[in-house]
Amino acid sequence: MEAAGLVARADSVNNVFGRQPGGSAPWLLVGSHTDTVLAGGRLDGAFGVMAALEACRALSDAGHPAAPKVEVVSFHDEEGAAGGGGLSGSRALLRDPHVDELGGYLEIHIEQGPVLESEGRELGVVEGIVGIRRLNVRMEGEANHAGTTPYAARRDAGAAAAKLAWQVRDILHGVDPTMVGNAGVIGFEPGSPNVVPGGATLVVEVRSLSEQSVERACEAVHAAAKAAADDFRCRAMVEPGLVIEPVHMDPRFIETLVSVCERNGRPWRMMSSGAGHDAGALAARLPAGMLFVPSRGGISHSPLEHTDDRLLVQGAQALLNAIVEMTDPLVFDPTRN
Ligand SMILES: [Zn+2]
Repeated sequence: MEAAGLVARADSVNNVFGRQPGGSAPWLLVGSHTDTVLAGGRLDGAFGVMAALEACRALSDAGHPAAPKVEVVSFHDEEGAAGGGGLSGSRALLRDPHVDELGGYLEIHIEQGPVLESEGRELGVVEGIVGIRRLNVRMEGEANHAGTTPYAARRDAGAAAAKLAWQVRDILHGVDPTMVGNAGVIGFEPGSPNVVPGGATLVVEVRSLSEQSVERACEAVHAAAKAAADDFRCRAMVEPGLVIEPVHMDPRFIETLVSVCERNGRPWRMMSSGAGHDAGALAARLPAGMLFVPSRGGISHSPLEHTDDRLLVQGAQALLNAIVEMTDPLVFDPTRN
């Protein structure tokens, strides 16, 4: 940041901020994170920081009036690779008085999914970040000899849990074809090949940008758990687990990003993000907006993570155009806070 002519500082949790000397609050914060997952790629996070830095440098070099209104950020510990839930840098900023000096947050990131590439689109405008809901399901039957117990006499909790796990996909599709989910954890008790499982647990997770869809899906999974238990003469207990509410990006930021993508002239689309981002944490306090560039093969959190240079540069250019529009007082109105 200093090499780009910015005044840089780190806050108490090691978020790094940089801005052109001589500006004054409020700033439009632009950036992403520079930590990664273990054995991650080079783009998840770092691309957004580099694109923000490059946009800021281009504006400074051009003597553009937007330059002193921008602050670049590299957030600390977005992924939570050291333990914890991640987003700790952006969440710490929400508790720091500096947040009051900010008028909004803009982030560009790789998609981390296959949608843009498979549709031949080059930019994505993020509407919001999906909410997550987990249900902890327990099936209770009766452990018994796996060889001597006829089917009619069994109370097979494993079969009931497996039936529900198999049904999750169809249940969710029936509620809302855009939502996703799965049973990602399953366990049988006592867990022996020669014993009919007397108990089974599974965790069902559903994700959607629509709170209503999440709600309806959880009700449907609950009903299906009871029905699957009945089929195998078991009892189902369904307890609510993790809840993360969906986050919506700021409508004016979305509008600006849409107009930037329209003027860019290459294919783009609106989309939700199935992964969490710093923009999601900051949206609790600041108007936030987010752009995606395609991920080759939809791969991320892997050294194979890749986006062609042309698409990275185009994304950075779109980010710069959005900064210019958003620092126009008509769009960038900190009095809203
Ligand atoms: Zn990331």
